[in-house]
Amino acid sequence: MEIKLKNKVYNPQRVFCIGRNYADHIKEMKSETPKSPVIFLKPNTCLVEKDIQIPFPSSGKDLHHEVEIVYLIGKEGKPVSLDDAKSFISGVSLGLDLTLRDVQNILKDKGQPWELSKAFDYSAPLGDFMPVENIVIHNIAFTCIVNNEIRQQGNSSDMIFSIENLIMAISSVWKLLEGDLIFTGTPSGVASLMKGDRITIQSPSIGSFSWEIL
Ligand code: ZN
Repeated sequence: MEIKLKNKVYNPQRVFCIGRNYADHIKEMKSETPKSPVIFLKPNTCLVEKDIQIPFPSSGKDLHHEVEIVYLIGKEGKPVSLDDAKSFISGVSLGLDLTLRDVQNILKDKGQPWELSKAFDYSAPLGDFMPVENIVIHNIAFTCIVNNEIRQQGNSSDMIFSIENLIMAISSVWKLLEGDLIFTGTPSGVASLMKGDRITIQSPSIGSFSWEIL
């Protein structure tokens, strides 16, 4: 998937995702608060543009929505300090970290990796990007709406690890590349999606993006 922002085209090769980054979501999942960011990856083939119909995955039964703020990295770097981190961001959007919760629970019980539950085709729907300079990144309000019902409401100010902290943590292991995406975790309210559902994620400062589950 290509991302266009301010006359530039980005071709994301990597999708970094953060787990357990909002206290209310940790509580609803009965998980422990991490001492350092929980990081996993999805292949870039998971990315889905807005207004696309998403087939219900055949490899699980309980498909959950997780609305997340997504950052686009604009330049290479390694390692990045906390003070420099913001200069590596070029854009901000919203995305969905679609999760097969039934599959994830089995994997968690077995202590196995999460890819089968989170890195399947169509698992990363992604909205359009706003230039970072247009956004107050520590006060981004966002919601997830399914069939006109508000399911999730969050604000970037509630993140346990700020985007600067996440960039520092990721870049201490992986050299940042232009076009990298960072999904920054979800607030509480994650719930099931059914075939036929229409899901919308929106933020006053970013925009509104929708998909239909087939
Ligand atoms: Zn997530």
